[in-house]
Amino acid sequence: MSQEERFDKESFRDSISTVDEQGKRIWVYPKKQLGKYFNKRSVIAYSLLILMFVGPFIKINGEPMILMNIVERKFVLFGQIFWPADIFIFAIGMIAFVVLVIVFTVVFGRLFCGWVCPQTIFMEMVFRRIEYWIDGDWKQQKKLDDSPWNANKIKKRALKWSIFWLISFVIANTLLAYIIGVDELFKIITDSPLNHLGSLSALVIFTTIFFAVFAWFREQVCTTVCPYGRLQGVLLDKNSVIVAYDYERGEGRGKFRKNEDRTAVDKGDCIDCNQCVNVCPTGIDIRNGTQLECINCTLCMDACNYMMENVGLEKDLIRYDSEEGIKTKKPWKLTFRAKSYIVLMLAIVGFLGFLIFTRSPIEATILRVKGTSYQKITEDQYANIFVATIMNKTNESHTVHMDILSDNASIEIIGGDFSLKEGEQVKKEIIVKMDADLIEGSKTKVEIGILSDNKIVEKETVDFFGPGF
Ligand code: SF4
Ligand code: SF4
Repeated sequence: MSQEERFDKESFRDSISTVDEQGKRIWVYPKKQLGKYFNKRSVIAYSLLILMFVGPFIKINGEPMILMNIVERKFVLFGQIFWPADIFIFAIGMIAFVVLVIVFTVVFGRLFCGWVCPQTIFMEMVFRRIEYWIDGDWKQQKKLDDSPWNANKIKKRALKWSIFWLISFVIANTLLAYIIGVDELFKIITDSPLNHLGSLSALVIFTTIFFAVFAWFREQVCTTVCPYGRLQGVLLDKNSVIVAYDYERGEGRGKFRKNEDRTAVDKGDCIDCNQCVNVCPTGIDIRNGTQLECINCTLCMDACNYMMENVGLEKDLIRYDSEEGIKTKKPWKLTFRAKSYIVLMLAIVGFLGFLIFTRSPIEATILRVKGTSYQKITEDQYANIFVATIMNKTNESHTVHMDILSDNASIEIIGGDFSLKEGEQVKKEIIVKMDADLIEGSKTKVEIGILSDNKIVEKETVDFFGPGF
């Protein structure tokens, strides 16, 4: 192959498939395609949609299943409340998430994009389905777009855009319910709009954004905006699982002729029917190889299998495989790199789980009062003053008591035992007293227990300063 030919063959990589040489958008009209993979994706997509829409109504221990209240800095995950004090768990959760994304992509390519990404699910399983229902399949859609505005076009556009707007509004409300909680959302809905102008403006803005994304911006979110899509180039390797065209089997492509012996005329199994291109929602030709636009939606796999079945050739000419698998025809297996990532991921997730499950409902920090050392109370008793910062991380009130666990001192809370409301944090001065004969040098360790309902919920060790400090 000459250099010119090689450059020519790779020229599709110079630009994205949905923009022409003048920089104008090429609108994609993907052909409607059903099939085995589409059916499986539908089951997962609609299950996730149900989960998303009923999620705000599910309560665990009286708290929403998921709440991301950034304004009040309150986060709930499966009934467990996380406060700003839990920021380190959040940070580890974020690291775990990033590592998970990397591991997953290294091993399984863009499986996430095709099967669980909200953008793909809403675009392909909700908005695109409505479009097929109102405007018809790809050719009718194109014809309608090209036609002048007439009664039929106005009617169809009005219907489609009204439904798109309504669904976008429902999505915006659902997201708001995940932020402020469903009870607050109902208050906003049932109260006078004048009392909630801020929330209503946010709802309208987000509805407009969703509408614009699904009615107009569409696949460009995946091909030009999504940072995950941009990462593919560095994360994928030749062993990653991708939607791949078996060029070894498919080339040289050539039209199908009944009763023709394709091997005798040097033809591969690709019958050049273009169906894989016609159904592609990002407008690419998967036969060119791995491309950043490919969201692994599997529609080309269904389309090609359908054609192969019809012409009596073996299925899976386009399939889940790795570049190495296609080249060597060897079955796919985990590489050392992928195994190492998975071990790292399990370690981080395990550590995260440990932190969450051993998280104390009451968090305490006890620090010496600034600038103090010790006071002599009597001839044989000394005292140290500390400040305890106690936070209730649960969704119920607790009465807090403190005790010395190390049996070498006594404790007095200024103001006595106290009560903490949900999410409340207080600072209390405490006096720790120790008999002279129990003091060990200049610093003696004292273990203080924080008790709630007679149960030790937190332990803190402090240094008791004695004479000689
Ligand atoms: S190439 Fe195939 S899997 Fe990739 S986006 Fe197009 S139809 Fe979907
Ligand atoms: S659908 Fe299959 S047979 Fe048809 S052009 Fe694509 S790869 Fe070739």
